[in-house]
Amino acid sequence: MAREEFDLIIIGSGPGGYVAGVRAGQLGMKVAVIERDPKFGGTCLLRGCIPTKALLHTASILDEIREADTLGIQVAAPTLDIVKAQERKQKVVDSNSRGVEFLFKKNKVTGIHGLGRITGPHEVEVEGPDGRKTYGAKNIMIATGSVPRDVPIAPVDGERILNSDHILELKKVPQSLAVLGAGAVGTEFASIYASFGTKVTLIEMLPRILPIEDEEVSAELQKALRKRGIDVMAGTKMQSVERTENGVRLKLEGGKVDTVEAELLLVAIGRRPVTENLNLEALGIELDRGYVKVNPFMQTAQPHIYAIGDVINTPWLAHVASAEGILAVEHMAGLPVKPINYDRVPSCTYCDPEVASVGLTETKARERGYDVKVGKFPFTALGKAKVIGKTTGFVKVVRETKYDEVLGVHIIGAHATDLIAEACVALQMEGTDEELMRTMHAHPTMSEAVMEAAHAAHGAAIHI
Ligand SMILES: Cc1cc2nc3c(=O)[nH]c(=O)nc-3n(C[C@H](O)[C@H](O)[C@H](O)COP(=O)(O)OP(=O)(O)OC[C@H]3O[C@@H](n4cnc5c(N)ncnc54)[C@H](O)[C@@H]3O)c2cc1C
Repeated sequence: MAREEFDLIIIGSGPGGYVAGVRAGQLGMKVAVIERDPKFGGTCLLRGCIPTKALLHTASILDEIREADTLGIQVAAPTLDIVKAQERKQKVVDSNSRGVEFLFKKNKVTGIHGLGRITGPHEVEVEGPDGRKTYGAKNIMIATGSVPRDVPIAPVDGERILNSDHILELKKVPQSLAVLGAGAVGTEFASIYASFGTKVTLIEMLPRILPIEDEEVSAELQKALRKRGIDVMAGTKMQSVERTENGVRLKLEGGKVDTVEAELLLVAIGRRPVTENLNLEALGIELDRGYVKVNPFMQTAQPHIYAIGDVINTPWLAHVASAEGILAVEHMAGLPVKPINYDRVPSCTYCDPEVASVGLTETKARERGYDVKVGKFPFTALGKAKVIGKTTGFVKVVRETKYDEVLGVHIIGAHATDLIAEACVALQMEGTDEELMRTMHAHPTMSEAVMEAAHAAHGAAIHI
């Protein structure tokens, strides 16, 4: 039987692959997306962004109900049914995954389940439920993403030593949880389980939590998490972990204690790109420290084979994977495209309080030689923050003095992950701090804090 031919075959249906598939369909390409998982959507939809945010939402409602009394609402002390919370999370995940199938149908994208392997420069073999099949492709896109990274020091067993995939499926709230790694993933789970009533210890080897964020934001978050009862240990290295009768015992170095005992350990120290079984070496596709090497248009050493998302060495974020997927498809379609400016990637952590940023931190801006001015505005001074009882945190704007360009905006506090959007627009449009401060913001809103921080960067904040 003649093999079916496609303009583009995409391996992987995460936010990189499925979005690229939809865009290719819109542009009239005959496109197939291969997915080894029984559901479409990848890490983000099935084991990442969406399920974590569903559990974070349960956590935040639980905390709101605990504070109801302060609003004059009398309710009995809330209890958590984690099995029900997990069922709701699964419903949200499944509905999003069905949404991808709908988009595939709408845009004439062929979704194929099975393990994809590139068997020739223009050939992909799929080992699926109905056996092996070979397809022809003018272009190929590697969008195989990433999986949790295993490290010998913390051998994950799925019982006491967990990775993010395991902890998303817990049906019982642990008494205590140690979290290794205070990046976005570790910090979000620490936040969820602290709200669920677990005694949480958050351990980070680097001197501060969320180490890629602005120093002042990390310090504010550490203070806020400690206030919530989370034992934050930055600058602390785990030397070893052993299983005990009831949990795990961690040997630590460099911090305030040498040992921590907990019922469960979550290992959240990063992910590794999925490149195995793809036959990349034989095709002459180069890797760089395990990641597929690409040019600014996402082309590998074989110009008709593109790679995007977590499998390349750019930030591990769903919106980055999607933007790279669109760029790659538009490039292969011959549309005029510009490389992505990775200085303008928003970074969000949905813990309580939320953290969001875009652009350069104050330190990075100085390192790049800019003459920097910063403006900071605390939520304690904002009417809307007082109305909703969320006064923790601040907005910080970093600008340079030559053209007054906004270089970075850093937010910690309620709704930070939504508030960052206007800062993304300001940076994308190469906006000035004056433009941001003269943009009228509705009152009373949390977004006024962004305007006030822009004012503060000119020494002209009104409410502080
Ligand atoms: C707990 C957690 C929370 C996160 N939260 C956020 C968040 O809030 N915001 C955010 O922006 N990012 C978040 N991320 C990161 C985000 O999930 C990833 O950056 C994103 O999913 C990467 O997209 P991708 O398309 O490159 O790869 P993936 O989403 O990993 O998808 C790759 C797909 O390829 C499939 N695949 C791999 N090899 C093959 C093969 N040979 N054949 C067929 N299929 C194959 C895999 O099964 C997978 O479905 C989170 C990650 C985790 C783990």
